Amino acid sequence: MKTKLIQIDGSAGEGGGQILRTSLALSLVTGKPFRIERIRAGRQKPGLMRQHLTAVNAAVEIGGAAVDGAEIGSQELIFHPGPVKPGAYRFAVGTAGSATLVLQTVLPALLVADEPSVLNLEGGTHNPLAPPFDFLERAFLPVVGRMGAQVEADLLRPGFFPAGGGQMQVRITPCSKLQPVEILERGGLVSRSAQVIIAGLPDSIAERQRESLKRSLGWPAESITIERESDQVGPGNVVLAELSGATHTEIFSAFGQRGVRSEQVVDHLVKSVRDYLTHGAPVGEYLADQMLIPMALAGGGSFRTGKLSRHSITNMDVIRRFLDTEFEVTLDSPLTEQLTVR
Ligand code: ATP
Repeated sequence: MKTKLIQIDGSAGEGGGQILRTSLALSLVTGKPFRIERIRAGRQKPGLMRQHLTAVNAAVEIGGAAVDGAEIGSQELIFHPGPVKPGAYRFAVGTAGSATLVLQTVLPALLVADEPSVLNLEGGTHNPLAPPFDFLERAFLPVVGRMGAQVEADLLRPGFFPAGGGQMQVRITPCSKLQPVEILERGGLVSRSAQVIIAGLPDSIAERQRESLKRSLGWPAESITIERESDQVGPGNVVLAELSGATHTEIFSAFGQRGVRSEQVVDHLVKSVRDYLTHGAPVGEYLADQMLIPMALAGGGSFRTGKLSRHSITNMDVIRRFLDTEFEVTLDSPLTEQLTVR
């Protein structure tokens, strides 16, 4: 008997690329096939872009899947997964599209596979609107590690918009079942630091940003550093802030852009840090939406965060289509919510 396709509406909720990535990720984990229509209908250029197509192809390779509609611009896809094959893979986006989002697509299945994997990923490693490598390495993966699967990531070369060309290697030691985590309190700040990353641009930009960070954050001068990259394909500038508490680390980022003053980039970063410090919950907006799949696979766990984003709410709706997950969300202060998975 043919298994029934799960029907996914890519225009639902936020209508972005996450609906596709979550569907691919959970189709690989569960073996359930799906059809998605109106892919990224909520975005200016709907359909599969290079990053999404690379993610689809990566899922096809890892899951020995049969696919229909895997081409640039496609707004409909049918995906029939086979058994997941852990191992060594190389996935290249071919543009500055985010390599970390390609990883997001295949990682859940490899976390619970029966053998280790090594992935070499190429594309953007520091993109606006995607997890920067530093966030992946120091915020997200340590939480996954606490759930029982060890994942190490090395940045071999940074890749910035628009040139791309970044490279990273990710080594995954899976576990048979992810374990629930609880992150309910910040538990005091253990360390805080900020970093300006600059590649192929005048050093004066980095110096101005360091001064601006010192003035705005008021953190000790030695906690604000400049990292000068020299091996990039194209120029880039990112400012990062790292806050480590007793339970986990949060990383905030803002990206330099042509036509945007260096200090404005810092202002953007400082606003995210202040918003986080003001609401007082431990888990930041992006970590919250990225923890949903691992937590659903663990079948339990809870965290406190600021108000859940539309991105998270859309992601929960997609997860429920594949797994028997109950997400319980309670408002625990005017600015914070607690999410519990059952
Ligand atoms: P589109 O919707 O255009 O297809 P997309 O596929 O690039 O876009 P989204 O659906 O918006 O992406 O998903 C973005 C992902 O990147 C989410 O998992 C989100 O948590 C993550 N993300 C975005 N910005 C940051 C950030 N500053 N730090 C960490 N993670 C981030």
